[in-house]
Amino acid sequence: MEVLEKLKARVYRFGSESADGNRTMKNLLGGKGANLAEMSSIGIPVPPGFTITTEVCTEYNVLGEQAVLDMIKEEVESSISNIETIMGTTFGDEANPLLISVRSGARVSMPGMMDTVLNIGMNDEVVLGLAMKTKNEQFAWDSYRRFIQMYGGVVLGMKPASKEDIDPFEEIMEHLKEKRGIQLDTEFTIQDLKDLVYDFKEAIKKRTGHDFPSNPWDQLWGAIIAVFNSWNGERAVYYRNMHGYPADWGTAVNVQAMVYGNMGNNSGTGVCFTRDAGTGENVFNGEYLINAQGEDVVAGVRTPQQITKLGSLRWAELAKIDEEDRVENYPSLEELMPSIFEELNTYQDILEKHYRDMQDMEFTIQDGKLWILQTRNGKRTGAAMVKIAMDLLKEGMIDEKEVLLLIEANKLDELLHPIFDPDALKRAHVIAQGLPASPGAATGKIVFFADEAKKYKNSILVRIETSPEDLEGMNIAKGILTARGGMTSHAAVVARGMGKCCISGAGALKINYKTRTLTVGKHEYHEGDWISLNGSTGNIIEGKVDTIEPELSGEFAEVMALADKYAVMQVRTNADSPKDAKIARSFGAKGIGLTRTEHMFFEVDRIKVMREMILADTLKGRKQALEELLPMQRADFEGIFEAMAGLPVTIRLLDPPLHEFVPHQLETQRSLAEDLHISLEAVKIKVAELEEFNPMLGHRGCRLGNTYPEITEMQTRAIIEAALKLKERGIPCNPEIMVPLVGTVKEFELQEEIIRTTANSIFEERQDTVEYLVGTMIEIPRAAIMADLIAEKADFFSFGTNDLTQMTFGYSRDDAGKFLPVYLEKGILKADPFEVLDQAGVGQIVKMGTERGRRVKPNLKVGICGEHGGEPSSVEFCYNVGMNYVSCSPYRIPIARLVSAQAAIKATV
Ligand code: ADP
Ligand code: MG
Ligand code: MG
Repeated sequence: MEVLEKLKARVYRFGSESADGNRTMKNLLGGKGANLAEMSSIGIPVPPGFTITTEVCTEYNVLGEQAVLDMIKEEVESSISNIETIMGTTFGDEANPLLISVRSGARVSMPGMMDTVLNIGMNDEVVLGLAMKTKNEQFAWDSYRRFIQMYGGVVLGMKPASKEDIDPFEEIMEHLKEKRGIQLDTEFTIQDLKDLVYDFKEAIKKRTGHDFPSNPWDQLWGAIIAVFNSWNGERAVYYRNMHGYPADWGTAVNVQAMVYGNMGNNSGTGVCFTRDAGTGENVFNGEYLINAQGEDVVAGVRTPQQITKLGSLRWAELAKIDEEDRVENYPSLEELMPSIFEELNTYQDILEKHYRDMQDMEFTIQDGKLWILQTRNGKRTGAAMVKIAMDLLKEGMIDEKEVLLLIEANKLDELLHPIFDPDALKRAHVIAQGLPASPGAATGKIVFFADEAKKYKNSILVRIETSPEDLEGMNIAKGILTARGGMTSHAAVVARGMGKCCISGAGALKINYKTRTLTVGKHEYHEGDWISLNGSTGNIIEGKVDTIEPELSGEFAEVMALADKYAVMQVRTNADSPKDAKIARSFGAKGIGLTRTEHMFFEVDRIKVMREMILADTLKGRKQALEELLPMQRADFEGIFEAMAGLPVTIRLLDPPLHEFVPHQLETQRSLAEDLHISLEAVKIKVAELEEFNPMLGHRGCRLGNTYPEITEMQTRAIIEAALKLKERGIPCNPEIMVPLVGTVKEFELQEEIIRTTANSIFEERQDTVEYLVGTMIEIPRAAIMADLIAEKADFFSFGTNDLTQMTFGYSRDDAGKFLPVYLEKGILKADPFEVLDQAGVGQIVKMGTERGRRVKPNLKVGICGEHGGEPSSVEFCYNVGMNYVSCSPYRIPIARLVSAQAAIKATV
């Protein structure tokens, strides 16, 4: 019975060292709520509160506001009185008021993407009571003006009108500051704050036509609904789509007693990390502000101070602040409030050990008492992710399998991007320095507005500071540079999450949005000028700096070695040239799963011969051209075999429709006619003849080899002769010849016959042999259905999931751009099936094909060579289907190796 009751609960309480929920309940309580509950139960001081579940958000989206408010009313009311009991204050009471915050929190952290409102419960009477009770009028009015500002923005829609405009409340504050000749929010007098409250309310009335709600309960319900709505806000939707989080997850709502960091110089607020989120270094670090509340630190309004003395010294050096100035004006928390620091230091240690991962925490100091407001597994760069995981292993906190599970496969991508060439860096002209907020190398043209980042192929977004609205542009830009903000500013946190190079707090920069100029000392830079950012040192460099390829070394290599230790399924590469093959091997490829022979024909000197072959009217003419192509192709294969030194190399016979090879422009048609000594008219006729209504379903794949067997013959000859040549040179080689686009057994049989006959006659000629396999791609649904019959003949299967997806869905890959975006938006599809393998549909065909094939040939070698071979969820699926290998592009290999290991580990637990 009690269980049933619990199942129905829509509200979970926490506080006073106990909680209804715990850390495992992220899906229901959101990450923030689950961790608030967990912290509360393990004795960390958390202000009491409760969490309204994510399911209520989903109900809200279906049933609407009134129905949902009716559903939660009782539970919310009784939970508020629970907070009142713990805090000894009363919500809405004028003499002894309780103020609360209403905080969003989805199951995964989406920093700044959704809304939060602080100081709820304020009105003209409560502010007086709070001032009396705390004997701190300044604080009471500061809280009131913050409340109206936040509530106005989040709930009542008081937002800037356009991108050049500033926030309507900021505007009012700026005016007052100018009038009063002051610079900081903390310099407002009590009268100023009263004036602001009045002016804010007036502005709201003017814009919305309504009075500001003064009833605390109305305020509370309004905030709860606003948080639900923020799940479907523009920023949140963009962020969700970027990460592939489904719309039906919803957000939880956390309602919590306020603690006040703005009560004066014995109060403050901050954020901290148990390790360095940029580099992974094992140092406690973070930033705080005295006499501040909530987002002040992150918003970059005042220069935040460092938590630790070590961090403070490092910061001062970068910010060019001398020791006297630092101690006087920017002391660390460690120096300023040693006992609070010690307590915080203890909690960070407890929490990291408890969660066994790097934590990102929020805290507030109210009049000398420390409160923890949030903890979560911290976002980090790819480099930090790898270092932290290996360090935790070495410190004995986690084991090898946990290391592999802690690594987010897609983030490894960052480590595979180019870095600045050290030689070029020596010559670089550094114009200024900021904080190394997120490492990496970025070079691009200056843009000043997020929505203009796409103006250039490579852009650097230069802002005074960034806000959540800038997310899309930050994602597009190659790097981010801000004049204000610390290491925990919005720009810094988001950039690290994206793995994007970022320099923040570069105080020497003067940015003018109106004139679109960046001024550093005497130098002026304009939109479109090149600059470069070194996110690891904070150096801002004039112009373009050359980059070099990264290496798989250090901790990254250690992680990869661990992955290979646990992986069962192998990773091969798609490579068409010796160069790609070499890169792939340096990333750990165990063979080539797909060499597309047609790419070799597109090079200038070859395309001509290829066209001669296609345009030839007779078998003799075709054979002549193929004769010419043979040595070129043989040389290509030799190069690739040599690079792979005995590892298996799968070569696919010619696949695309011939139409792709012939010229379509008049100019090129004319020169081809001249080269071939035929009339322009004849070329045109031939090109027109090759035209197809559905080229992807037309004359291509093994249909070419079956209509022009001489092509298959030539390609087989090139492969076998190259292999024999290597054998002569003492280099092992392991070719696998792959027939594309098979739909019937006979199609395969005929191709196989040509291949084997050709090979045998070469062996005869040379009086020597090599081992080779003949297999097929499974990329037509019919082939998967007939897989048992095909497996009787074929040595191996390779699933071509690009074509298989195309043909299973009946979507033309080249035309899908017209409807796929709409389908994704409307939720008809959860993901682009050409990027993420559709496990429920296409995946089932893959599974069936594999099973039917293995029924006949239990040891049938099975792999995948579509784009999906490098996409984490698809790679995991391939493991679960029992594939021997996946094949992907060289730069995805480390990712696939890791996922292969993760899949194997998950399968054993
Ligand atoms: P986000 O998810 O964007 O980080 P939060 O809900 O964590 O938003 O809140 C924003 C800011 O307000 C944070 O700095 C947080 O610490 C602060 N805050 C939230 N609730 C309270 C509270 N009850 N007392 C004091 N500060 C709070
Ligand atoms: Mg937060
Ligand atoms: Mg194909």
